[in-house]
Amino acid sequence: MSMEFNYDDNNIFAKILRGGIPCDKVYEDDDVLAFYDINPKADTHVLIIPKAKYVSMEDFSQNADKNEIDTLIRAVHIVAEKIGVHKTGYKIHINVGEGAGQEVPHLHLHILAGEIKESV
Ligand code: AMP
Repeated sequence: MSMEFNYDDNNIFAKILRGGIPCDKVYEDDDVLAFYDINPKADTHVLIIPKAKYVSMEDFSQNADKNEIDTLIRAVHIVAEKIGVHKTGYKIHINVGEGAGQEVPHLHLHILAGEIKESV
């Protein structure tokens, strides 16, 4: 049986998804939003989030359906191409849970390219 996670509708990415807080958008489709990190830790630092309410990768890995997994993973290339790093290379980083330093309780993939200035 899948585990339940308590999603906080007032987290900052939920507010961005509702349009209550602006973001510097890179890409959007029905399932995914990507935007520049407000406090970049690398020359290029973009966040990719599913629009569905997943607290973390633990939540997503246990509960997402195949379409949600497919669209999030396929968004990685789309975003990498849009920001021009798909050929030069990039890192994908995910903090999973507070113990790993996850600050925003809505799943997000960090896409990092160029010089890394500090750890995410
Ligand atoms: P994490 O520590 O993995 O939860 O990462 C959260 C990331 O969200 C950090 O890199 C923050 O700089 C970033 N962040 C927080 N608020 C915003 C915002 N309003 N717009 C864009 N990025 C944000």
